[in-house]
Amino acid sequence: MATLHLLGTGAALSDPHRTTTMLAVSNGTSSVLVDCGGDALQRFQAAGLSLDSLDALILTHAHADHVSGFPLLMEKLWLSGRERPLPIYGIAQALGQAQRSFETYDTSGWDGLFAVAWHEVPFEEQAPVLETEQWTISASPGSHSVRVVGLRIESRSSGGVVGYSCDTEPSPEIARLAHQADILVHEANGEYPGHSSAEGAASVAKQAEAGRLLLVHLPPGDKTADVFAARTIFPRTDLGEELGAYPF
Ligand SMILES: [Zn+2]
Ligand SMILES: [Zn+2]
Repeated sequence: MATLHLLGTGAALSDPHRTTTMLAVSNGTSSVLVDCGGDALQRFQAAGLSLDSLDALILTHAHADHVSGFPLLMEKLWLSGRERPLPIYGIAQALGQAQRSFETYDTSGWDGLFAVAWHEVPFEEQAPVLETEQWTISASPGSHSVRVVGLRIESRSSGGVVGYSCDTEPSPEIARLAHQADILVHEANGEYPGHSSAEGAASVAKQAEAGRLLLVHLPPGDKTADVFAARTIFPRTDLGEELGAYPF
């Protein structure tokens, strides 16, 4: 059994109860965290996940609402006594942003700081990200103001699949990546260049033949009308719930 945890569901600016969009998948012993544009590990712990279970971090793109919490994440893991290296996966721009932001802090007094293993993901369709005994993860480009990748996360124990659009306009690459995913987590920031409306997300879910659609990266304000509009295109659409847990 694997579970998708929505650690945050907001846009960079969102409602008071939503933090920036971050998610994790976990089967209890192995967890993978996606993005850290806020206090990701506080949300990770609030979701009931143990810091010891964190096997990998994936960074989708270089924007602040997706990577700005990286130095804090490192500090927390160091304080937790982590010894084993942390593998971090992402396209070059996302990794570079995290590295630069971490280097602005003086960590010379962080005795015994664990190592980080940086793994660059090629910016191409259905690029392999990682394969472990628990997870098979691949990435495809989205269409945003900077380079970004969406993800396909397969639990090898349950066979379930989660697709994640990250920040993007409705994109055929993401629909192909999320083909027949049990859950598609898609942004619904609004109908702007580089982003999607709820209806746009629903059209991608329909194209992908996904099992259900969860809307994230939500701007401030009431979303009721957006959800109803999306359901006319893809009926199994819901707003992502802050700290919502979804088995897959
Ligand atoms: Zn972005
Ligand atoms: Zn964003």
